[in-house]
Amino acid sequence: MLEKIKTIAKKYEGEIIETRRHFHKNPETSWNEVETTRRIAEELEKLGYENIKVGFGGTQSGVVADIGTKAGKCVALRADIDALPLNDEKDVPYKSQKENAMHACGHDAHTSMLLGAAKVLAEIKSELKGRVRLLFQPAEEHGIKPGAQALVDGGALEGVSAVFGIHVMSPVPSGEFHYRAGPFMAAADAWELTLTGKGGHGSMPEGAIDPIIAAFQLGGALQTIVSREVSPKDTAVVSIGGMRTSSHVFNIIPERVEMNGSVRTFRGEVQDCVEAAMRRIIGGICDCTRCKADFKYNRVLPATVNDAGITELVKSVAESLLGADKVKESPLNMGSEDFSHYGRVVPSAFAFLGTGRADKKTDAPHHSPKFDVDESVLFEGAAMYAAFAWSYLAKA
Ligand SMILES: [Zn+2]
Ligand SMILES: [Zn+2]
Repeated sequence: MLEKIKTIAKKYEGEIIETRRHFHKNPETSWNEVETTRRIAEELEKLGYENIKVGFGGTQSGVVADIGTKAGKCVALRADIDALPLNDEKDVPYKSQKENAMHACGHDAHTSMLLGAAKVLAEIKSELKGRVRLLFQPAEEHGIKPGAQALVDGGALEGVSAVFGIHVMSPVPSGEFHYRAGPFMAAADAWELTLTGKGGHGSMPEGAIDPIIAAFQLGGALQTIVSREVSPKDTAVVSIGGMRTSSHVFNIIPERVEMNGSVRTFRGEVQDCVEAAMRRIIGGICDCTRCKADFKYNRVLPATVNDAGITELVKSVAESLLGADKVKESPLNMGSEDFSHYGRVVPSAFAFLGTGRADKKTDAPHHSPKFDVDESVLFEGAAMYAAFAWSYLAKA
């Protein structure tokens, strides 16, 4: 059956590439994916998909649709559909036609791969031992209002017993498929801190309380959390992203320093440890420098944790479909994904499909204005989606 699925996907390769180029030319940023949504829904309707639901999070973005028989389990396949606010600097015929909008993370590839899988599944519909739900999810890049959370809140996972998602990866050699059981991509937290002292004359520090001293001490002390408090067997990053003083004059001691930054972790215990240590260290340094702290710690995205059983199935399907030499265990990835919201509700697995090739100039980093994907592997991504769904239902 997997061979058959791959053959059908190959038949649609031209359409998959064409669709990807259409979305690449016409990108829409997070929560603005109205035309993208319309086009996906139209295709799914033509293919005979059922329960087509359009619009999530109070918007017109996002599509969810089903295929298969109601007897048996329901497995979900996810593609994110949003672009980034960035100008496309590539010199290709399918370059973005919009200002400040570009598919610089490959979500156009995900959308076209899942639409390719939709066609494959429509052809093998009578052989599915259950239902497949396609999740065309908006706003993965949004950060504050993640599309995955909106789909979960909108009931998109009702009745679903597993979710599988693929991300194309330019740092991974084209055609390789990388999986990992357990923690896979990091949780992303953002923090903001205002240190308030007492402004004064730069020549008379005794009359002021200098928040810069507290900020400088914090710059070093916060790094002791990873080096001295988190176990060396765990992974974490604490970064300061910005620092701004309330005045910028050579002879003024400023009243305030504002700082912000991010924290990346893979396990809840480590995340709790980092937040608690930050609160304690900030409090301690403020005590000894006489400053006041206003500290906000925001847990933006949870870690993406892959279910062991689902990942094992993903791995074995990938080995049969793509060849064992192409399938490798991924190292931990410090990036974050809102796919993590699905994993909190049902067992799920997220994996990478390599699309990086120097000779095709598809090895630029994600989120860069030169980002592109090697389109020759997209039909394999489509096949992987469909093959996983068929295999999951056959086993269930
Ligand atoms: Zn991205
Ligand atoms: Zn992405």
